[in-house]
Amino acid sequence: MPQATQTPVYNPATGEVLYQVTHADTATVNAAVEKSEKAFALWSAETTLKRSRVLMKFLEICNANRDAIAATITREHGKTLEDARGEVQRGLEVVEFAIGMPHLLKGDFSENVGRGVDIHSVRQPLGVCAGITPFNFPAMIGFWMFPICITAGNTFIWKPSEVDPATARLILKYFLEAGGPEGVLQVVDGGKEAVDALLHHPLVQAVSFVGSTPVAEYIHQTATQQGKRVQALGGAKNHMVIMPDADIEQAAEALMGAAYGSAGERCMAISVAVPVGAETAERLVSALKKRIDHIKIGDGAAAGTEMGPLVSQKHLDKVRSYVDLGVKEGAKLVVDGRGFKPASGKGFFFGCCLFDDVKPEMKIYQEEIFGPVLAITRAKDMGEAIQLINDHPFGNGVAIFTNHGGAARQFAQQVKIGMVGINVPIPVPMAFHSFGGWKRSLFGDVHMHGMEGVRFYTRLKAITSRWPDEHKAEFTMPVAK
Ligand code: NAD
Repeated sequence: MPQATQTPVYNPATGEVLYQVTHADTATVNAAVEKSEKAFALWSAETTLKRSRVLMKFLEICNANRDAIAATITREHGKTLEDARGEVQRGLEVVEFAIGMPHLLKGDFSENVGRGVDIHSVRQPLGVCAGITPFNFPAMIGFWMFPICITAGNTFIWKPSEVDPATARLILKYFLEAGGPEGVLQVVDGGKEAVDALLHHPLVQAVSFVGSTPVAEYIHQTATQQGKRVQALGGAKNHMVIMPDADIEQAAEALMGAAYGSAGERCMAISVAVPVGAETAERLVSALKKRIDHIKIGDGAAAGTEMGPLVSQKHLDKVRSYVDLGVKEGAKLVVDGRGFKPASGKGFFFGCCLFDDVKPEMKIYQEEIFGPVLAITRAKDMGEAIQLINDHPFGNGVAIFTNHGGAARQFAQQVKIGMVGINVPIPVPMAFHSFGGWKRSLFGDVHMHGMEGVRFYTRLKAITSRWPDEHKAEFTMPVAK
């Protein structure tokens, strides 16, 4: 018998191995899909209200255990407890949205479209759906997917990141405690083999993915070739434009959280600040420098910590190599966090870095770093700032800080990005709106959660009916008379 693959799960704040996670092989995934298909037959036949009520009970249990979920996130991801609680909150908001879904599953009805003919449309579930999620939001991104998916009557197989998989298992436990039937929600651990098994299984109808762009593109191509419905959200390089009329202290304060919160490991983190005009740039750099000096870096579980460690040594090495590269490329490293060491001497810690004079042709501008590294790319006017952003291959989020309504409106209208913030640094839409980027930040057509989520996890059926008094054969195209 070949040995099952195992990989270590770390506590990034100490560097210690917490346990080994066993990766599902193809046979294990296939068994999960078959179980899911069986559960679908029963679950999809339940009333919409029954499904909502299971979710209501699940929400109650999750609410009572918010701290346990947050602690699990912090232990394996490293983000601060307060940040993890925020993640749980944003995730549970999707469960709240899903509970009200019977209203959104109502179809349309037209009476008498022909003589004695009515037409109505219904939204029906797809069947077995799969969700593959990244390490940086171990709870929230699963919550973006499965509550809407299963309330619509589907079943869901969640493949969380192998880097921090315990949160998904905890959430599954609460779902089962809430009376969620076996097989409706399942978690399979693993990496590429498990994902490929899901992508190729003929019973899997739809795949939701969130992660890096190369994998998102691969998932989209592979799963669409297999005839599946796919939404695959990828990486990001989010810009924040600071106009000369903006309150610089306020903009710098917003940038601190947006660039360095969660150690920059957020798909909506701001990684490029674009001050408009030389004077704005000088003021911004000095406002940032004085704040970076005071940021409290440490164990995310300790009170008062503002920034935790990076998720792994491998990721830390990647972030460090980008900072080294930026120096080689000629960008000005105004704050160098490479030497940061915590008091314990342990863990995957990396200090905040700030680059000035970053040029669009540099790799540190073009590529996603996904760490506490903020680049400043100066622009002479708003037109140049918009051009810069529109030329960038990623299109997830963007922000503008200004007191000028007309400028903000023009910016929002012209910028080719999926989510725009006006004086809001991280414009993550609420659960009842939808989340998604443009360009190489999303492969597929449909964003996540909100109405887009309902559409993704259902298919429309139109039913035309007539209850005639007499039957007569019709050989011509039916038209309304
Ligand atoms: P990742 O792409 O390495 O992994 C994501 C998932 O895909 C994991 O479950 C992983 O096991 C699986 N996977 C990895 N390599 C694979 C392969 N070759 N074949 C099949 N499956 C594979 O991403 P990550 O490092 O976990 O997360 C960070 C990335 O996610 C960043 O690029 C970030 O921008 C992105 N992200 C995007 C959004 C968004 O909404 N657009 C949100 C969060 C994170």
